[in-house]
Amino acid sequence: MTNPARSVQLRGEAEYRDQGESLLQRPGDAVFVRRGALRSVLMSCPDGCGETLVVNLDPRAGKAWRLDTRGGNVTIFPSVWREGGCGSHFIVWRGKILWCDRFEGGNVEPAYDGVLLERRVLTALRKNTLRSTEEIAAELDEIAWEVMRAGHALVRRGLAVSGGLKQRDWFALA
Ligand SMILES: [Zn+2]
Repeated sequence: MTNPARSVQLRGEAEYRDQGESLLQRPGDAVFVRRGALRSVLMSCPDGCGETLVVNLDPRAGKAWRLDTRGGNVTIFPSVWREGGCGSHFIVWRGKILWCDRFEGGNVEPAYDGVLLERRVLTALRKNTLRSTEEIAAELDEIAWEVMRAGHALVRRGLAVSGGLKQRDWFALA
């Protein structure tokens, strides 16, 4: 448990969960479950506890996460939080795993052009109307984690405002 996974290794696709689980070998391994459409991502818990996490991607099956695979790297939004058991809480961003509490000292963010993205996010903001990180990311076809950071950077520069505690990652023009 001293060396949690810091990246996601995609091990392929399966039609059903039990087939997919047999492809998981090491902490941080992931398999897509696809029957017609993508249904879920199975992950071998990156803290090494041995559990398999199921991240639902299908809105018809309940709360769904957004998957992005540009550049061949997995991004999942929002964070994955196993509230029972080991309690793992992490984000998956361009194939990297960033821990949210324990282990976060070793986090390394992926590289991207933040300056360009801030300019793009600014064009998507409205006066007096908060927009969610997900909505902005979908409109711009950008990665939500990067849109969220760009939004907060714009807030720090006084160019944008964010919502209150419940809409911390929603943004409007300042
Ligand atoms: Zn775990």
